Amino acid sequence: NTFAEIDLGDALNKNIRRCKYVKPTPIQRYAIPISLSGRDLMACAQTGSGKTAAFCFPIISGIMRGQPLPQRPPRGVRTVFPLALVLSPTRELSMQIHEETRKFSYQTGVRVVVAYGGAPINQQLRDLERGVDILVATPGRLVDLLERARVSLQMIRYLALDEADRMLDMGFEPQIRKIVQQMDMPPPGARQTMLFSATFPKEIQRLASDFLSNYVFLTV
Ligand code: AMP
Repeated sequence: NTFAEIDLGDALNKNIRRCKYVKPTPIQRYAIPISLSGRDLMACAQTGSGKTAAFCFPIISGIMRGQPLPQRPPRGVRTVFPLALVLSPTRELSMQIHEETRKFSYQTGVRVVVAYGGAPINQQLRDLERGVDILVATPGRLVDLLERARVSLQMIRYLALDEADRMLDMGFEPQIRKIVQQMDMPPPGARQTMLFSATFPKEIQRLASDFLSNYVFLTV
């Protein structure tokens, strides 16, 4: 049971070796094949379980396979159209996810940008303007970017919600619902959603039934 046995694409498999990840953690062992098969996923995972790689490997791999990557936007058009969105509750977690995702998208052509609240928006706007395939964001800052029409979610093919229970505890449910509503109504199977949470109270189960279709429930 090694990453070498999982076909994530040459560039990503190479990055995995370069980062010295050899053996998948339990959440990775089960979640990655499920996600690669295209199924929606609801996973129970704690901090430190390796959940970041569990959702970012299939996203990077899927974007690389879904060639060709969209062109850079024409000059003057400031709205960007990411293909994947990772929502996380805090600035710190967003930064960690961004770091990890960037490490593994090295030389894949997949561009990763992070946008969180509590920091000036201008640098984030400049980062977005250079193009983005995977956007890692906190819900409040993303709503701001959507209201400014600087980000469109119409092209989103992968959605990951990390630490969903914490996002609800922090009162982000209205923002999350608003964000998901802006993703174009896709034909069934066109968008893949992964929901990660440490706990599964009623509110999380309701999110899962609203956002996921025909999903696999995973607890490790
Ligand atoms: P996470 O739960 O995603 O925050 O990951 C916790 C830590 O474990 C991070 O520092 C990761 O870089 C590391 N990590 C995750 N998966 C693996 C793996 N399969 N092999 C070695 N280190 C890993």
